[in-house]
Amino acid sequence: MQTMTQIADNKAALEKKIEVAAHEAGRDPESVRLVAVSKVQPDERIETALATGQRLFGENRVQEALERWSVRRETCPDLRLHLIGPLQTNKVKEAVALFDCIETVDRPKLAAALAQEMERQGRGLPCFIQVNTGEEEQKSGVTPAGLPDLLRACREEYGIDIRGLMCIPPQDEPPAMHFALLAKLAARHDLPDLSMGMSHDFETAVRLGATFVRVGTAFFGSRVS
Ligand SMILES: *Cc1c(COP(=O)(O)O)cnc(C)c1O
Repeated sequence: MQTMTQIADNKAALEKKIEVAAHEAGRDPESVRLVAVSKVQPDERIETALATGQRLFGENRVQEALERWSVRRETCPDLRLHLIGPLQTNKVKEAVALFDCIETVDRPKLAAALAQEMERQGRGLPCFIQVNTGEEEQKSGVTPAGLPDLLRACREEYGIDIRGLMCIPPQDEPPAMHFALLAKLAARHDLPDLSMGMSHDFETAVRLGATFVRVGTAFFGSRVS
């Protein structure tokens, strides 16, 4: 079981490592935000995280996020939730209502559905485009070659506020080249935010420009209870 001190210690250690990595790269540590990935974690750990002052969380499934956060949304007004998993168009309505940022826009059909729903709810969310930097068959995300067209469509046809890019590197490759590629693509398209880096590689991501790191197990402890 993760006690209060364990999660508070994890959080402090992560923040320290982020600070060191940012300094190494000549970056302001304040420009990096820690997204605590709360998927599958038991409720007591969520409460503990909130008690430590953590307010920014990431979830990869809409239904699970609704169960975990819809009540807490009401009681915790400064909560910020990022969707970091694939989004089906039939879940767009719930996603727009619950989340503060959608990090996984990856196709025109989804962009169109999001734009329509944001208009309907009067809730224009900042979004990221997920890039499949490893061009893996099974992974979601637009290919690097497909990014310019999708970005143009999001901006010009759908009027979506695209703030940055997100990636999940292939598991069996060193992540640095994927982070560097994502940073290069973001710079080329004038996108300020980069969501990259997880428990095992967030320091590398920070050195290469991450503005959001998505950390699950190193924050909360193992997801298998
Ligand atoms: C689960 C998940 C994470 C966090 O993974 P950890 O290895 O536990 O830090 C980050 N990003 C995405 C998209 C995830 O699904």
